[in-house]
Amino acid sequence: MNTELEELYQQVILDHSKRPRNYGELPGAVSVHGDNPSCGDELDLHVKFRADGGVEDLKFTGSGCAISQASASLMTMKLKGKPRAEAEEFLRAFHHLVTAGTAPTVKGFGDLILLGGVRKFPQRVKCAMLAWRAFEQALREPGGAVTTEAE
Ligand code: ZN
Repeated sequence: MNTELEELYQQVILDHSKRPRNYGELPGAVSVHGDNPSCGDELDLHVKFRADGGVEDLKFTGSGCAISQASASLMTMKLKGKPRAEAEEFLRAFHHLVTAGTAPTVKGFGDLILLGGVRKFPQRVKCAMLAWRAFEQALREPGGAVTTEAE
């Protein structure tokens, strides 16, 4: 990354970790507990699905390092209101971005693209993926728990 990107990355991570968006409980939602023991990040993701399987709303609570919090904050912003297929595509694209550095083919990634910088640091990939693993679990079954240990 060049210096300018590096600075932008720092700013975005700091901003979202200090003032996480969509932070809080969501009554009537499906909740998944996410755990990243190698870093100590923990979060609960709350997702409300529409009858057609689309994402009506999502919020999260929990605590952890700046990257895990920023990734969760950005994820909730991006996935809110998305049809199910699009949300699944986002999930896949984000995973490819942080593990392989593959440029996302889906539109609207925005600041999320900056998290691609974590791919050089395998421990940080787990932090960045925590909220997304929780979302993946929420898509599969209502509730449960995930860990990024096998990431
Ligand atoms: Zn972490």
